[in-house]
Amino acid sequence: RSSIAQRILDGETLIVYDGQLLKIPQSWVDAHPGGSLALLHFVGRDASDEIQAYHSEHALKLIKRYSVGTVETDEHGSWEALVPPIMTGWIRKPASNGTKEWYNESSTFVPLEGTTDILLVKRDDFGVEKGPTLSNLTPSPTSLSLKAQADHSAAYKLLHKRIVDAGLYKTPYLTGYGPEVLRYTMLAGLSAYAYYKNWLMTSAALLGFTWHQLVFAAHDLGHMGVTHDWTFDRLIAILIADWIGGLSIGWWVHNHNVHHLVTNHPSHDPDIQHIPFFAISPSFFFNLWSSYYKRIMPFDAFSKFLISLQHRIFYVVLALARFNLYRNSYVFLVQSAFDKKRARGGRWTWWLEVAGIAFFWCWFGSVLYGCGSWKKAFMYLLVSHIAASPVHVQIVLSHFSMSTADLGPVESFPHRQLRTTTDVICPPSLAFVHGGLHLQVTHHLFPRLPRHNLRKASMLVKEFAQEQGLVYAEFGFAEGNSEVVGVLRGVAEQVGIVGRVAGAEVKEVIER
Ligand SMILES: [Zn+2]
Ligand SMILES: [Zn+2]
Repeated sequence: RSSIAQRILDGETLIVYDGQLLKIPQSWVDAHPGGSLALLHFVGRDASDEIQAYHSEHALKLIKRYSVGTVETDEHGSWEALVPPIMTGWIRKPASNGTKEWYNESSTFVPLEGTTDILLVKRDDFGVEKGPTLSNLTPSPTSLSLKAQADHSAAYKLLHKRIVDAGLYKTPYLTGYGPEVLRYTMLAGLSAYAYYKNWLMTSAALLGFTWHQLVFAAHDLGHMGVTHDWTFDRLIAILIADWIGGLSIGWWVHNHNVHHLVTNHPSHDPDIQHIPFFAISPSFFFNLWSSYYKRIMPFDAFSKFLISLQHRIFYVVLALARFNLYRNSYVFLVQSAFDKKRARGGRWTWWLEVAGIAFFWCWFGSVLYGCGSWKKAFMYLLVSHIAASPVHVQIVLSHFSMSTADLGPVESFPHRQLRTTTDVICPPSLAFVHGGLHLQVTHHLFPRLPRHNLRKASMLVKEFAQEQGLVYAEFGFAEGNSEVVGVLRGVAEQVGIVGRVAGAEVKEVIER
């Protein structure tokens, strides 16, 4: 273990998989279809469960070629995890001579002594080392039982086998996607019909509902959960997300994989990083660094003001959230314009996405132009975008009221996912409204599983959770909403308290 730690400090990307030590070459870190962060968050850790959940049989065979030997394990048969350098703010950056060297992008901040939480904040330029040290890689003492984590992990592997054996990875095209495609066509057709009849607001709402439904299909495809073939799934996803929806699927997958792997970590999961609008934990009061966005999330006067009202403006902000997705999409496409290293898709997906977005603004632009006046066009834009927004409510319901603690690198994959994720209870007849994402817990454990099989799989997952003494969280829709609003209100109230106490006392407030 100490020699592996030293090699990590020397700059190697080492990950444990199935008792083997994988040495990932830098070229693959840059080319990894799931993004480089997906690898960096597992340096020094056993990623067997995550790797199996995210890769096809074929990819799993290829992964073994990076093996450079076996690792020693503890009495439970587990690898004793190290803290990945990125978790303490260290990444590899190209130096002036072309080689990669360590770069400290942020400093660490431990909000509560004696816990495993590590948050990232603005880099403290004073006394920065040249690279991470052994103390960066050494986890704080954990309150988790290592034996229990090893048991959860072993049971998860058996659960995965049961799911494979039950044939749940087979996509039910006719019974599953048949009705979906019918629904999409009907909604889009009705929207067009209403438009030609000049029932503009009806048309706008129906267009919004179409987008709302299509987002879920793009989500399935982004996870390779439909044909399970990267190229096919990505082609259809680009058609849906970029050409019809005006959003970048490349951006969305890049963002979403990180969300799935470091779920609900205030410094690492982009899906809970919504400063200045929302903070689901008082941790965000500390001007945290985002390892995803590569910037500080400033808790300034403007954020303080909005967050003190967040439980009241919650639905208004979500209703307009789609506008933010355009911004994120286009920023991503601009930033990845010169990225030639991707193993999958390479240049063609980029060009196809850019062409799709140009096409989107042509057709949607002429729809708006055809409304007749700028006032009507503005209302059409607003209504269609608000009608597409319940998807955002769905996404936040699954995570906003759950734990945002960091239990350290020894926490097993199933334990982390069950702790940070909740289902929304809904009758099968309404499952389409949630796009299958109400079964978020099972989706997080088996992200490539076709959406229409999640309900069957969730039965097996619930058995697993019960056997393992883990909580499978689920709320009714109304209850889930009030839980989330309650969390937002709690944090909003703390903004007021923090405003009144001096800096040194801030910590105490957080502890309460
Ligand atoms: Zn999620
Ligand atoms: Zn997902």
